[in-house]
Amino acid sequence: MGIFNKKFAEMINIVLFGKPGAGKGTQASFLKSQYDLVHISTGDLFRFNIKNKTELGILAKSYLDKGDLVPDRVTIDMLENEVDKNLDAKGFIFDGFPRTESQAEALDNFLEGKLMKISATLSLEAEDGILINRLIERGKSSGRVDDQDESKIKNRFEEYNHKTAPLINYYKRQNKFHSINGIGSIKEITERLIQLIDQL
Ligand code: AMP
Repeated sequence: MGIFNKKFAEMINIVLFGKPGAGKGTQASFLKSQYDLVHISTGDLFRFNIKNKTELGILAKSYLDKGDLVPDRVTIDMLENEVDKNLDAKGFIFDGFPRTESQAEALDNFLEGKLMKISATLSLEAEDGILINRLIERGKSSGRVDDQDESKIKNRFEEYNHKTAPLINYYKRQNKFHSINGIGSIKEITERLIQLIDQL
């Protein structure tokens, strides 16, 4: 095996999965430094583009404002572009992507083309009531319009239930799906994740 292939075989590529408010972004920032990974949050990328009024940002804004998912093609292109910019990484944390079955298939195909693959999908789990409270709390300081209005939050949960939840079976079929209790202190949850990743 050449050095090139060996490097990709040793990569850790994690999908952080869970409903809005599950703690994906918070935990990604700890795992990123623990394992020296590149953290890609599609939500953060969209918000960055919206703030900078790029063409992509102008397109994405109305979807984010309503709590709807941005169309797959736009999201997949943005994600692939970001991975391509970081091919020297030790691995990636995908946070908030994939969120539909066609995004998951596109990601698998894209990674396969680079001799890379998802190592595991780690799902942070907590009840809806807890998540809604966390989002409302976050909305007070984040300034995110989609966190400040309960009907927008509900819409994001509906998008999750209809479009994202089927990915649980998608990754179970690949034996890559792991549930993690997402209730507890931030540190406790990070430790649960680390324990799992160390066993991969
Ligand atoms: P997040 O920061 O992950 O909660 O995402 C905020 C918003 O960005 C979502 O409600 C969607 O409008 C959009 N978004 C983020 N990731 C995706 C994705 N993978 N597919 C479609 N839309 C996304």
